[in-house]
Amino acid sequence: MSEAAAAGIQLAQENAARAKVAGHADRVWKDECMFCFCTPRSTGGLYVNLSTFQGFCQQHLSLDHQRTGGVLYLHQQSSKVSE
Ligand SMILES: [Zn+2]
Repeated sequence: MSEAAAAGIQLAQENAARAKVAGHADRVWKDECMFCFCTPRSTGGLYVNLSTFQGFCQQHLSLDHQRTGGVLYLHQQSSKVSE
């Protein structure tokens, strides 16, 4: 395992307690960036903050990190598959 991968796993383990599981009353913004119209189909995909459940594109991800200190995100990237 590379040092970067090991550091990433350690960072995830240190912040795992901050991640929440969405309940039936939680709203998860997983379809569009909070600041623009990027979706999981856009270049770079969409990152959902696992503490606030708000979605951000690659361009606006750093704004969310600065605002919330979020470390753990679910990365969604989808593409259209031809039949
Ligand atoms: Zn955005």
